[in-house]
Amino acid sequence: MSHRPRKRLGQNFLRDPAVAQRMIAAIGPEPGQALLEIGPGEGALTGPLLERLGALTAVELDRDLASALRARFGPALTVIEGDALALDLAEMAPAGGRLRVVGNLPYNVSTPILFHLLAAADHLADLHLLLQREVVDRLVAPPGSRTRGRLSVMVQYRCRVERCFNVAAGSFYPAPQVMSSFVRLVPHRPLPEPAQDEALLQRLVAAAFGARRKTLRNSLKGLVPPAAIEAAGVDPARRAEDLAVADFVRLADAASGA
Ligand code: SAM
Repeated sequence: MSHRPRKRLGQNFLRDPAVAQRMIAAIGPEPGQALLEIGPGEGALTGPLLERLGALTAVELDRDLASALRARFGPALTVIEGDALALDLAEMAPAGGRLRVVGNLPYNVSTPILFHLLAAADHLADLHLLLQREVVDRLVAPPGSRTRGRLSVMVQYRCRVERCFNVAAGSFYPAPQVMSSFVRLVPHRPLPEPAQDEALLQRLVAAAFGARRKTLRNSLKGLVPPAAIEAAGVDPARRAEDLAVADFVRLADAASGA
């Protein structure tokens, strides 16, 4: 496939078959599983995935790539020509089952795509994503880490997160400015620490990290009174990055009761 990469669409194509094989080994596709590939591009993963699964659905925004993929892989590959952000994943999941998701995501929209996927986590078996390494650093960041942020807490609330391996920039064409990491997300079932009000949890996590250098007493002003922070078993003198997911859930439950 000879295609001029479009920067606007975050096109950095994987050109190293050994990396593709490592990714496939980490995914472990089995015949008959329902799997969605996001942004198949030139098909570096699509080919080996199809070999193992027999059939596959992929969503690709680039019209030229979508038609080249259809021509190359034929009816075994269902290509949805469109935006991954517009997909109704609940509808795509098999009846009585869950969808697996795989993608070397366009880095310019990887965070919105990640949030879109997480919103449908109940319908997803697992996600294997190639992302900018800095994003994966944030996804896996434990309490106390300086890279811990809103993304870390909201993703860890919903999923078990595991970095599989890092990938050098030279494995792609054109080479991106940054290193990449392959990450596995497995939605918790059931959630170990469910919040009474998830929208409130999100607002609270956003507020806490929106002023991450401030203590919780200050960053959560107006959302949770200091006495309620203490009653939730959290020291109001601590900062957002120190808190575990369970701490945020207790704070959100305190706020929703207040
Ligand atoms: N999977 C291929 C690979 O590993 O070589 C391509 C990866 S490239 C980083 C990202 C791909 O996502 C491109 O093919 C791009 O056209 C596509 N893409 C960009 N934005 C998209 C969107 N919003 N929805 C679906 N696909 C998108």
